[in-house]
Amino acid sequence: MRKSYLVVTSVLILAALVSAGTNSETTVKNLKAHLEYLASDDLQGRGIGTEGIEKAAHYIADQFTVIGLEAGFENNNYFQPFEITVGVKVKDQTSLLVNNTRYRLAEDYTPLGISSSAEVSGVLAFVGYGITAPEYDYNDYASIDVAGKIALVLTAEPSEKDSSTIFAGIDPTVHSELRNKANLARENGAAAVIFIDGPRYYPQGKELPRVKNDMGYYDVGIPVLHINQSVLYDHIPGDSLLHLQQKIDARMQPASLIFDDVMISLRTDLSAEKSIIKNVVGVIRPTRDGASEYPLIIGAHYDHLGYGGPASLAPGVHEVHNGADDNASGVAAMLEIARNVKAQQEKLVRPLVFIAFSGEEIGLIGSSYYVKSPIFPIENTIAMLNLDAVGRMQDDGLIVFGTGTAQEWTTLMTMINKRYNFKLTLNQDGYGPSDHASFVVRKIPVLHFFTGANTDYHKPSDDVEKINFPDLGRLADFITDISLYLTTESSNLTYVHQQIKRNEPAKESSRHKGARPWLGTVPDFSYQKGDGFRLNGVSPGSPCESAGLASGDIITKIDDMDIRSIYDLMNLLNKHAPGDIITIYFKRDDADMVKQVTLGKR
Ligand SMILES: [Zn+2]
Repeated sequence: MRKSYLVVTSVLILAALVSAGTNSETTVKNLKAHLEYLASDDLQGRGIGTEGIEKAAHYIADQFTVIGLEAGFENNNYFQPFEITVGVKVKDQTSLLVNNTRYRLAEDYTPLGISSSAEVSGVLAFVGYGITAPEYDYNDYASIDVAGKIALVLTAEPSEKDSSTIFAGIDPTVHSELRNKANLARENGAAAVIFIDGPRYYPQGKELPRVKNDMGYYDVGIPVLHINQSVLYDHIPGDSLLHLQQKIDARMQPASLIFDDVMISLRTDLSAEKSIIKNVVGVIRPTRDGASEYPLIIGAHYDHLGYGGPASLAPGVHEVHNGADDNASGVAAMLEIARNVKAQQEKLVRPLVFIAFSGEEIGLIGSSYYVKSPIFPIENTIAMLNLDAVGRMQDDGLIVFGTGTAQEWTTLMTMINKRYNFKLTLNQDGYGPSDHASFVVRKIPVLHFFTGANTDYHKPSDDVEKINFPDLGRLADFITDISLYLTTESSNLTYVHQQIKRNEPAKESSRHKGARPWLGTVPDFSYQKGDGFRLNGVSPGSPCESAGLASGDIITKIDDMDIRSIYDLMNLLNKHAPGDIITIYFKRDDADMVKQVTLGKR
């Protein structure tokens, strides 16, 4: 059993440790220098794939060197590089022939980012909206066999602009999602899917969508195209598509049929665009003999949104998102904590690992990579302190998430705060959307420091002049004291496995009014092979945990459906209700395993 901390007379130890407050003038000066550089336009918003983020990585490594941190890796290397998928590209080999007429890529048709690469041909089979929705007693596949054929599918849902439809009125349901439709076509044996906008509401059609990838480019397993209406009208009378759509919409019944004389030959050729990103890792080791190998980790992500993109809250703007608060502030504070701790290295009895994470904004990718390739065994980590958006303190307000993940956190925070008098808001939840989440699922106590939400969040206006430097300095001192407390004393924190309080989701799925099925998987977004869904962890108290699934397991199949990515899993769960029993096939190391799981309710 682990020894508890507070056995020791805490006040005495605290008195012996503190010294951080004495150099706060230097601290503030340094913080300014770090932030002015990291949040400058020159660093291009530290977006994945920019030169700016490279400059940031080198700046952090240089600072680690100046401060005297040991490099995390051999040959004095501070960088931990890894490959990620950042986009998808359509290549020249892509082609579409309808009855031997060749069509123009990008003008007449486009593959979608969910398309696989393949060459197929077959007759065209119209399957209405391509929806199977038992809860609405609606099934476009009820009386048609699409096996080996090319499925022609209308986008959206029957009578999408009619608020009185049997579907959810004008609110789109999950059935309208193209990925779900494409998956369903694949499950019905279609060789490919061709989407078309229905002429009833879009007599001229809409502009062809742009090819974009979802997180990590997971294809649906068959080719998927979107065509202009004019392509089809070259081969069938234009009003026949309109009539078919009107027929479905009027009766809410399918009008699927095979176009025997429309022969399609198509080839899709897409490739994932890869990029190398890197964490920056430095270490301070104890100098005394016989010190412990159980480290404390202090982390802050250094990537941000670059010039905008899907996570920006200034949509359509192509401008540097400087990310001063998010999260140049956390990186700057981490560097100062490292400098202050280094000055007291002789007191340490355990190592401190400082990590500037990349890929946080695109799904905690850097931290999920680190927990799988740590420099000390990950289970030895005594705690992880995460600094994310800590530069905008107001009226001494400081929010600390994760205080429920160790028995001692609340007492420790309160004790150390006596010197600082922050107005602490302690929140037990350690599963929040930042890098600490990658650690708490490995059963490591975590804290996430945060100075509160502001209206510049994820906008180009998150700039350095809005940073409150004096309080950022005090916060760095506060976390330095916590860090020293944890590394100059040899007992461990007592991890508390949290039962997450589940808030009812605000937006109910239209499929299961009231209760939705709950499995409790924590996805690993860094796994992008497209041959399964890897778990970063399991939620406490979840069906997945009871069944014995664990971090690192790769789910490949559930019942008789192949699981290639998180989307297949979501798609499958959508078809189930709480209480259903499913059979999960997964890989653990090299072994194939099978478990039955009863779905919970949320
Ligand atoms: Zn952030």
